[in-house]
Amino acid sequence: MSFDILNSNIPTINSAIKDKKISHRELVDFYIKRAKKYSKLNSYINIMEQEALEKVTNMDPDLSANEIIKGIPVSLKDIFLMKGHKTTCASKILSDHVATYDSTVASRLQNKGAVVIGKNNMDEFAMGSSNEHSFYGPALNPWDESRVPGGSSGGSAVSVSAGLCQISYGTDTGGSVRLPASYTGICSLKPTYGRVSRYGVIAFASSLDQPGPMARNIEDLAIAFDAVSGHDPNDSNTSSLPPSNIYKGLKNIEPCTLGVPYELLSDGIDKDVVKCFESSLEIFKKAGYVIKDIKLPHAKHSLDAYYIISTGEASSNLARYDGIRYGYRTSNISGLKDLYENSRSEGFGTEVKRRIALGTFVLSAGYYDAYFVKAAKVRRLIRQDFDNAFSSCSAILLPTAPTTAFKIGEKLADPMTMYLSDVLTVPVNLAAIPAMSIPCGFDSKSLPIGMQIIGKHFDEMTLFNLAYFMQRQRPELFNRVSVK
Ligand code: GLN
Repeated sequence: MSFDILNSNIPTINSAIKDKKISHRELVDFYIKRAKKYSKLNSYINIMEQEALEKVTNMDPDLSANEIIKGIPVSLKDIFLMKGHKTTCASKILSDHVATYDSTVASRLQNKGAVVIGKNNMDEFAMGSSNEHSFYGPALNPWDESRVPGGSSGGSAVSVSAGLCQISYGTDTGGSVRLPASYTGICSLKPTYGRVSRYGVIAFASSLDQPGPMARNIEDLAIAFDAVSGHDPNDSNTSSLPPSNIYKGLKNIEPCTLGVPYELLSDGIDKDVVKCFESSLEIFKKAGYVIKDIKLPHAKHSLDAYYIISTGEASSNLARYDGIRYGYRTSNISGLKDLYENSRSEGFGTEVKRRIALGTFVLSAGYYDAYFVKAAKVRRLIRQDFDNAFSSCSAILLPTAPTTAFKIGEKLADPMTMYLSDVLTVPVNLAAIPAMSIPCGFDSKSLPIGMQIIGKHFDEMTLFNLAYFMQRQRPELFNRVSVK
């Protein structure tokens, strides 16, 4: 096969299929073979080889205009339910759980003909920033296997970065599609809360959770987003806006004003990260964009508010894993209390237990007002900060993470340092606005660095157009595959 799949976006692949340079079956086979070849990266918990190949055998190569994602190999974080398939959330407690229905993301993709080739590794219940909190062991960063790929959608990021699928979907509660995209040199989108359905996505913190696509280039990211966005009667928090139509709308836009909250760049951000970020600002400036210093006065409280709200919601959501309804059940039972206690103690990992303990505390009588209600008020202030900032700029730019990928084990002993990895991503989730992470360069160790483009509610189009501009300015940073 002479056609170069790895360096092609979905539209180019579709043309190659139409011209019979490659078949759908060859495409799916190519990615599955790579996924197996690079199994040591631990990107997949489960590869659905037979089912995927059967789906594309004899698939019609003539694609109509709305069949843009038909036959495209996709991977899903193992948090999305797929009927008849294991969905583990990388937890021992769900390690034998077979989903009884499809998540909306999985059903929309499959209805459009996309081929799910496997389920990706992740931090247990999406709690983590490194993919080290997985019952199946850490996924490895393909740029340097001694380092983490970021979390919690680490396996999805690895599958895209290493070319083990065309696109993937993760979820982002506090940064989980953006942080791993930044650490592995790819693009990802955390849509506006309510743009993509959470139905059939195992819940972590329901007021923050949002599924989002990951891809090696902006066209694929747009196509992946368009395929799943839009109202869903099964998730009453989804917006009634029509599904997005980003791919067809990608265009050159007039230079506009972009906000940068410089105050957030002063503390604890790696020099290389700041340097790369600033060189991206220069590119915008040269093209006529105005870079404006903006203030987000309450953003410094984001991590505190996030770790109260998210743990509170998680402690409630995870109460359902009781050893009775479904999931792991202990064999160490001498009474009902033991059944609950031992199933949960043996079934959950350390980080999940830490979050449940913290969340139960902040919701308990006497502390609820002092912690949870106060955090909810801080959240409102953060959202207002963004609303105010957007009155004088079209989008906001920030690095995605304070550092590049760190060593496996480096931050495990001290959860606080791990939590700090999310300092630049969580404000976005609290404000429920969209943000994208795109590659913006490499550090002195040749590890990828990402930058965020943050937008107004439901203004994903502007983010895509800005990212598209960057892709044209610096094509060498996009469509990069981290392993041969
Ligand atoms: N790292 C953050 C946490 O552990 C965010 C995780 C996420 O977005 N799912 O809570």
